[in-house]
Amino acid sequence: MWPLIMLYLIAGGWVTPAAASGEAASASEDSTARYLDSIRRNPQLLIAFLQGLPKGGDLHNHLPGAIYAESFIDFAASDGFCVDRTTSVLIAPPCDRGCQKFTSKPAISCAYQDPVLYNSIIDAWSMRNWNREESAHDHFFATFDKFFPAIFNHIGDSLAEAASRAAADHLQYLELMNTSDGMQAALLGAKLGWDDDFGKQRDKLLGGGLKDVASATRKELDRDEGKMHALLKCGTPQASPGCDVKARFLYQVLRGLPREQVFAQIVLGFELAQADSRFVGLNLVMPEDWYVPMHDFELHMQMLDYLHRIYPKVHISLHADELAMGLVPPEGLRFHIRDSIERGHAERIGHGVAVMNEHDPLGLMREMSQRNVL
Ligand SMILES: [Zn+2]
Repeated sequence: MWPLIMLYLIAGGWVTPAAASGEAASASEDSTARYLDSIRRNPQLLIAFLQGLPKGGDLHNHLPGAIYAESFIDFAASDGFCVDRTTSVLIAPPCDRGCQKFTSKPAISCAYQDPVLYNSIIDAWSMRNWNREESAHDHFFATFDKFFPAIFNHIGDSLAEAASRAAADHLQYLELMNTSDGMQAALLGAKLGWDDDFGKQRDKLLGGGLKDVASATRKELDRDEGKMHALLKCGTPQASPGCDVKARFLYQVLRGLPREQVFAQIVLGFELAQADSRFVGLNLVMPEDWYVPMHDFELHMQMLDYLHRIYPKVHISLHADELAMGLVPPEGLRFHIRDSIERGHAERIGHGVAVMNEHDPLGLMREMSQRNVL
C-alpha cells in the first residue's frame, strides 16, 4: 500500500502522534483551528504558521525540478562543463580558454566571477525573473534541456538537498520521481526496435538486457543513497535533520520518447517496483501537450493496461490534464484523466487542472472519490 500520509495538528505546539488521542487531540485541534482563524488575514503570521506545520508526505516531487539552479551550477562546475553564454545550455568540454566576456563557450565555473553570467544562467534554468512576454509553459519545460547533464553524476547530492529541504519544511516522507536508470532502458528500447505484440516486445526486452538495467539501477541507487547519507552525516552526532526524512521513488517514464523507448521504460518501472521496495511505482512525465504524448496517449494507456495485468501489485501514478483550454484542441481535454484511471490504472493523478473539461466531470470526480484516487 501507499505509505500513509501523516498530518498532526496538535495545539500548544506539535507533539508526537502517541500523545494525540481522544479528547486531548480534539481540544488541541480546536485550539489550533482557532489560532489559524485568528491569523487568516495576517500573511506574515500565516507564513510562520505554515512553515512550522508538519506536512506529512510530499507525493508529487520531480527530483530534477526540486533542485535549485545554484546547485546545478555547482554540479556542472565540478564536472568541468562549459556553458553557451547566449542560451545557457550546458555543453561538454573542452571549453573556451579563459573567462573573457567575448568567449562564447566558457567553463561554467567562470560564472562564479561573473555575476552577469551567473544570474543569466539561473534565470534560464529556473522561473526566476521569468519574462512574462514569454510563455511560462515553454520557459519552464525548456529549462530541462539546458541543465540536464548537470544532474547525471549528482543524484546523491540532489537527494541530500531534497531531503534537507523537506526536513526544514517539516515533511516526514518524500516520493521522488526520477528516471533512475540514466536512460539505459530507453537506449535498449531504441536498439531492439518495435513489435506491435506487447508480449513479444516485453520478452525481447527482458531477454535483451533489461534485467541487467534493472539490477544496475538498483546498485546505482545504493551508491546514490550512500552519498546522500554521507553528505547529511547520517548516523553521526552531526546528522542533518534530512536523515529522518524517508525517501522513496517513482520510476519516471518520459512519455515524449518514441514508443519503443516508452515501452522499455514502463517495463523497467514495473520490474523495479516489483523487485525493490524503494521504488513504490511509476509515473509518466513530460509536457502532455507535445505531439508524441498527445498522439501516443492511447497507445501508452494500452501499454499500461497490458502490463498492469502482469504486475498487478505495482502502483501507477499518472500525470493527466496538465493542460488548459487553448493549449491543445478541446477534444484533447476530454478524456485523459478518465482514461488514465480506467485504462492506465492510475491510483493518483498529477496536476489534473483541466478536470472540468473532461466528459461528465462531476461523474468523473465521483468515480475518483469512490476509487480513492488522489
Ligand atoms: Zn508533475
